[in-house]
Amino acid sequence: MMERKQTRPVRVGNLVIGGGAPIVVQSMTNTDTRAVAATLGQIEALAAAGCELIRVAVPDQEAAAKLKEIVRYSKLPVVADIHFDYRLALAAIDAGVAKIRLNPGNIGGADRVRTVVRAAKANGVALRIGANAGSLHRDYLTRYKGDVIQAMLASVEDQLALVTADGFDQIVVSLKSSDVVETIEVNKAFAKRWDFPLHLGITEAGIRWRGTIKSAVGLGILLQQGIGDTIRVSLTGDPRHEVTAAYEILKALHLREHGPVVVACPTCGRCQIGLEELVEGVEELVQDLPYPLHLAVMGCVVNGPGEAARADLGIAGGKEAGLIFRNGEILRKEKQPRLLPAFAEELARLIREKYGV
Ligand code: SF4
Repeated sequence: MMERKQTRPVRVGNLVIGGGAPIVVQSMTNTDTRAVAATLGQIEALAAAGCELIRVAVPDQEAAAKLKEIVRYSKLPVVADIHFDYRLALAAIDAGVAKIRLNPGNIGGADRVRTVVRAAKANGVALRIGANAGSLHRDYLTRYKGDVIQAMLASVEDQLALVTADGFDQIVVSLKSSDVVETIEVNKAFAKRWDFPLHLGITEAGIRWRGTIKSAVGLGILLQQGIGDTIRVSLTGDPRHEVTAAYEILKALHLREHGPVVVACPTCGRCQIGLEELVEGVEELVQDLPYPLHLAVMGCVVNGPGEAARADLGIAGGKEAGLIFRNGEILRKEKQPRLLPAFAEELARLIREKYGV
């Protein structure tokens, strides 16, 4: 087990971020917050995918006015994303959100920040503050002669001085950049100095495959060093993909369990079976399963039996046929197109025997 950096615990609704709690997977709705039914529908779909904390944009008072209903019916604790107007933060706290994401630098001065912090403290609401390399105030860049890492750290430390002045400490910090190396360096530097829990993300990561790769590299390196308490994989498009990608990162590092792991070979000239179709079939079969099973789908007998032996259930392909393994033991041989249905039967049997369902 890798050692995680000790951070202070921050309560966010029914969750704890930091303090050694499991790393929280979060996402953000991309519906219009004023459209309550659509927003709640997306929250429900995200919760079903395994999302644990949801952020919604609150661009104006009309959106803020809908928060009460969203909070009331949301399956997940709600984070309000606020910019520019401290009254939106107060309205969100009043609506019962679990956390406010705020940029203390853009809501109109220290007094207004203190007003929000006092309201958050009185209502048990957590706060996320942070710096984004793309929107750093140029004073910081000038002061640190363009050194983005030092400028981001200084910006966050000034924010911390402001929001902790009255003893408030329910604070999560994020330091984000669209540059992976910058994100890694700045989070490492912050984690050395402070014990506030860190929200990790690569900002503006991009479309699904590119964003997933950038996030897996950046977040994966930090998480492997024990840094990070909650993650969001930012992707353009359906936010459910953010949740799937977040869990794949956490599962790869043995930090969380979330449904089965499916390993599959890339195929080569030895493969004599339609493996891609078979893998897609297995993925579809297991996509909603909650059990942390290890499944292997291999194209031939070169690596197939070896990989299948490490799996709870595996397939090693042959010539238009395949062997089904369970914990290294051959259960049966099936010809196509019987292989996938036979695998489904064996999977159902395995789940019955292992989990009693
Ligand atoms: Fe090729 Fe077999 Fe390896 Fe798949 S398991 S990549 S088919 S050698």
